[in-house]
Order: sequence, then structure tokens, then C-alpha cells
Amino acid sequence: MSQLRFDGRVVVVTGAGGGLGKVYAQFFASRGASVVVNDLGGSRTGDGTGNHKAADIVVNEIIAAGGKAVANFDSVEDGDKIIATAIKAFGRVDIVINNAGILRDKSFSRMTDEDWDLIQKMHFRGSCKVAKAAWEHFQKQGYGRIINTSSAAGIYGNFGQANYSAAKLALHGFTQTLAREGAKKNIHCNSIAPIAASRMTETVFPPELLAHLNPSFIVPVVAYLCHESCEENGSLFELGAGFVSKLRWERSKGVVFKADSTFTPGCVSKQIAKIGDYTDAQYPTSIAEVDWVGLLEEAKSLKAN
Ligand code: NAD
Repeated sequence: MSQLRFDGRVVVVTGAGGGLGKVYAQFFASRGASVVVNDLGGSRTGDGTGNHKAADIVVNEIIAAGGKAVANFDSVEDGDKIIATAIKAFGRVDIVINNAGILRDKSFSRMTDEDWDLIQKMHFRGSCKVAKAAWEHFQKQGYGRIINTSSAAGIYGNFGQANYSAAKLALHGFTQTLAREGAKKNIHCNSIAPIAASRMTETVFPPELLAHLNPSFIVPVVAYLCHESCEENGSLFELGAGFVSKLRWERSKGVVFKADSTFTPGCVSKQIAKIGDYTDAQYPTSIAEVDWVGLLEEAKSLKAN
């Protein structure tokens, strides 16, 4: 099988000083791309900044292996500066991997405004800022690929991660709209919910599980989604340890009530099992996939609830 290559492409990887970002940066460089290795340094909880060592080490390793890379130490909240580094060093930008991440885990009752705001700003606003700065270049050149890093915590919820899960699922909503707005210009945006061993998860998962969660097992999916041959757009993949799956929305067939004053909470209570019955479920892929006209007709023909 021929290798999927990225010669001539410029890839921006945020949070590439360690963990998943580092292996993405190394891989893209090994397949011919020029890489901006962004990482502002700092701790797992976002305290402390200005340690440039992590990004510098990754850049040096890439160059030593014969690849092309430059470091950038800005926070993703200054996404325009990160994209400016790509333009200055390589003259273009083709691929953005929104990967940088921190945690401020606490039960909701103990979560401060600062814990909430920091996570929203870093994960959600930061990803938007980097994507926005790249967007005009993508539109002009008729090509672009964006990966937003979501999380199982966002998809399913997770104790102690109200701030993080909100930001992570918001990112997939963002992905779905960018996918629609970018499609005509060959700009594709997808989300991943990875599981991998990193400083972020080293205290969360038991060592025997961590041993199987090499970050390099996330790379093939991310790289495929960023390749020019890939048609995938607006999707969400859950993956780790070699397992790769795709998620979709499922909507129950539902119940139609007569929309008049007889529609009460008691009616809902009586029908709640049927409302949640997934027999004959639908799998909507757009906001337009509700047959409102048909539903209104059906409702009209009903007697009182
Ligand atoms: P990591 O802590 O090893 O790497 C994150 C990197 O982001 C760090 O090097 C950090 O310095 C950098 N960073 C933090 N804030 C930044 C900022 N404002 N600007 C630029 N860089 C910044 O973590 P990881 O496990 O490799 O996580 C990568 C991404 O994957 C994160 O978005 C994380 O939320 C997500 N994720 C990871 C897992 C997992 O199992 N590891 C699970 C779900 C989601």
C-alpha cells in the first residue's frame, strides 16, 4: 500500500511539546510536512508559563531526523500569533491540529469561576482562535484540514469534569458547523475523542492499562483525516489502543402529542417509555432532518391528549 504523504503541506500542532501533540508533530514531519510545534509550557493544570524547553526539544528532534519544524510558544488563546509563525516560516498553513490541553478537575460544587473560565478559554476559545486565524488562508487556497480534540468526558460526562466536559463537547458542535461552512472550499473539520497515556492520564488510569495506551496509536486516524484524499467531514471518532470507532446521533421515533391545552406534564409521564423507545430510531445528520410538516399534519388528526 502506498504511504499517505504530506509533502509541501504545513501543519500546526498545538500543545506539541509532549503527549499526543508531540507524536503528531513527529509523524507529519516524517511524512514530508513542515510543522509548527506550538507549546507554551506550563503544568497539567495550566499554572506557570514560559518553559520553552518542551517545544524546542521536539523541534530539535524533528530537524535531527531530517525534517522541517519551527517552535512557537504562544498560548492557543493567541491563535493568530501561532498561524503567523507558520506563514512567516513556511509561507502557508494547510492543517491545524487543535490538541493543547489542561485539566482543572473538581466536583461541580467546589469548582471556582477561575477553574471554569480557564478551561473554556484554553480548550474552546483557544481552538476557535487558531482555527479562525487559519480559516482565511484555507478559504483562499481552497484547502484546509482541522482536527478538534474532544473527549469521552464530553460525550458521556465524567465526575469532576463539568468544566472540561462542557468545553470538549462544545468543540464537536464547533466542528460540525465548520464542516458545513468549509465544505465548498475543501476545508474539512473532524473531532477525535482519544484515550492515550500522557501526563494528563498518568494518575487517572491504572499502569496496566496505560501500558497499552501508546499515543502513537492515535496518529494513524488523525493523519488520515488530514490527508488531501480524505472526504470525511464533521465526524467524531472515539479511539485508543488501536480501537477506532465513529459516533453518530440517534433519535427515537418519538411521540406526537396534540399541541393544545390538553398537552400536560402528565401526558409526558404516561408516554415517557415510548418517547425513549429506540425501535425504528432515526440517525439525523442535519438540522433539516425533522419532517415538521408531516408531524404537524399528524398532530392535527389527533383527538385531545
Ligand atoms: P499533555 O498534557 O501531555 O499535552 C498537552 C500539551 O498542551 C502540554 O504540552 C501543554 O504544555 C500544552 N498546553 C497547555 N495549555 C496550552 C496553551 N494555552 N497553549 C499552548 N499549549 C498548551 O496531554 P495529552 O494527553 O497529550 O492531551 C492532548 C489533548 O487530548 C488535550 O486536548 C486533551 O484534553 C485531549 N484528550 C486526551 C486524552 C488522553 O487520554 N490523553 C483523553 C481525552 C482527551
